[in-house]
Amino acid sequence: MIIVPESEIAGLVSAEDAFAAVEATFAAMARKDAYNFPVVREALGEGRQYGFKSGLDRAGGVMGLKSGGYFPGNAERGIPNHQSTVFLFDPESGRPTAMVGGNLLTALRTAAASAISIDRLARKDAKVLGMVGAGHQAQFQLRAAAKVRKFEKVVAWNLHPEMLPKLGAVAEELGLPFEAVPLERMVEADVIITITSSPAASLMSAHVSPGTHLACMGTDTKGKQEVEPALLARAKVFTDEVAQSVTIGEAQHAVANGSLAEGDIVEIGRVINGDHPGRTSDDEITLFDGTGVGLQDLAVASAAVDLAVTRGVAVKVEF
Ligand code: NAD
Repeated sequence: MIIVPESEIAGLVSAEDAFAAVEATFAAMARKDAYNFPVVREALGEGRQYGFKSGLDRAGGVMGLKSGGYFPGNAERGIPNHQSTVFLFDPESGRPTAMVGGNLLTALRTAAASAISIDRLARKDAKVLGMVGAGHQAQFQLRAAAKVRKFEKVVAWNLHPEMLPKLGAVAEELGLPFEAVPLERMVEADVIITITSSPAASLMSAHVSPGTHLACMGTDTKGKQEVEPALLARAKVFTDEVAQSVTIGEAQHAVANGSLAEGDIVEIGRVINGDHPGRTSDDEITLFDGTGVGLQDLAVASAAVDLAVTRGVAVKVEF
């Protein structure tokens, strides 16, 4: 069995590696070569959350789970509140093959999903990137998005404006002018990423211009919401997995109020496989509901194992 500690991930897995691994997984999901098992998520009390995301990718020969959760007392212990670890198994024999630190990988695979949606669905001439949210994930989202379009400017809004300068520093590092704006100015954006833990819609349909691509990445649990359902009704809606989109993703609200039909939501893997045209005009709105599936975690963890073995940093243990 191979162990790849959390401390090795930053030096091993690039945004490009994560993009390639997640794109292959979305494609396999749409071909039905890979599927996610039901998510387990439990509230442990005192704000602690713990659960499992798991799946099998027959095409990639990957099976396993991500065990993780949110432990708000960790800040006082000097460790991150979000904790996750990926366990991989041989799909033929069930023997454990690897244990991989999952904290940084979660940010990389989430940013990869959003970048894949931008790459596939945003207008080629997109110039202005709108960011709604400025927390931990936002900086990874911004970096990954900047790799797939030649943005000329970033406009950003966050409920807690004191968090924006940190995101501004990332934009500066990427050579992109950065402006903190009210939500109304998101109409200037060609691509908008939402990445907040909001329980109610911040971004309204009136804040979004025709032709925009949205990557809605923050809503990954029942009860969270980032955008007005009317926006999904106006858009062509794509997702990683339809079952998650309608239950824990952004589409849960539009489907519940009847403004979006489950059957109208398209898995992005179909676009990757060439089975769906994706965007077909410059003025339509496309929206990717990125809910975060277990197979994304397994894909990037598997890439981390391969890279660790190649570069001689994998820890091997008899098990
Ligand atoms: P964080 O705690 O670092 O940041 C939270 C962000 O949400 C901040 O920008 C904060 O200002 C904003 N926010 C908080 N309450 C708000 C409210 N009421 N209205 C509007 N904005 C509000 O969190 P993070 O690690 O950056 O994660 C952001 C979200 O992304 C979380 O909901 C997390 O669960 C989700 N997430 C999704 C995936 C996925 O695959 N889809 C993966 C990882 C994280």
